[in-house]
Amino acid sequence: MPITRPKIDQLIDENREHECAGIGSDKVCVIIAAIADLPTRFGDFQVAGFWNNRQEEDHAAFIHGDPCGAENVLVRLHSECVTGDVAGSLRCDCRDQFEAALTAVGQADPGIVLYLRQEGRGIGFTNKVRAYALQDQGLDTVEANLALGFEDDEREYAVAAHMLHSLGVKSIRLMTNNPNKVDQLTEHGVVVSERVPHVLPPNEHNIDYLRTKALKSGHFIDPSVTDRMLEQDDTPLLKNGSSDAAS
Ligand SMILES: [Zn+2]
Ligand SMILES: [Zn+2]
Repeated sequence: MPITRPKIDQLIDENREHECAGIGSDKVCVIIAAIADLPTRFGDFQVAGFWNNRQEEDHAAFIHGDPCGAENVLVRLHSECVTGDVAGSLRCDCRDQFEAALTAVGQADPGIVLYLRQEGRGIGFTNKVRAYALQDQGLDTVEANLALGFEDDEREYAVAAHMLHSLGVKSIRLMTNNPNKVDQLTEHGVVVSERVPHVLPPNEHNIDYLRTKALKSGHFIDPSVTDRMLEQDDTPLLKNGSSDAAS
C-alpha cells in the first residue's frame, strides 16, 4: 500500500513545521515539499521532492509501499550521475546500480531509493568531466580526483539521514557493500538493522575503474565471487591519498 493522501498531508504539515539546526558539517536541513504518484517500469512508486536549506540541488526519494513509521525499510542511497543514469555511460556502473535498486525496492514493501544530487561523488558534473579527461590521458580515477584537488569522495550522508528522518523511517535494511556507508548513517542517527549486499557484474568498459576501487578502498569482499566488483558511488573517503577511511 502506498502512503495514503491523508498521511501525505500530515507528513507535509509536519515537515513544514520542522525546524532543526541542520546536521552534518554543512548543517543541511531537508524537508519534504511534495509527494506524488510515480508509475515506473520498475513498479508503482511515489516520489518525494525534498527542499533543502543549504544546497542548490533538491533531493528525491523514490518510495514503494508506506515507509512512514516502518521498521526494516529496504533502502538504497544513489548519488546522481548524469552520464551514467541518463546517458547510459559505460565508464561507470551507476545506471545498472540504479536500475537494480529500483527493481529491488519495487518488490519490497516498504522500500526507498534516495536519489542524492551529488554528481561525480560530490565534485560536481563539470569537474567529473575534467576528471574523465585526465583519465583519458592515463590517470586512474582516484589519481584524477586528487589531481583536481578533491579528496576521492566528498559525499555527505547527513542529507540521507535527514531524508529518512523526515519520512519517519524507524530502521532500515541498507543495500550496500560499503561498511563506511553503514557507519556514517549510524553516526547521523539512522538505525541500520541489516546490510544487504548489492553486487552487479562488470562490463568491459568499467572493469578497470572498478579494479582501481577494489585495490584502493576498503569494501567488503565476497570471497565466492572472483573479480568482485564494486559500486561506482561507494568509495570510502581517502585522506592524503591513503586508502584508510578517515573519520
Ligand atoms: Zn532539519
Ligand atoms: Zn556514474
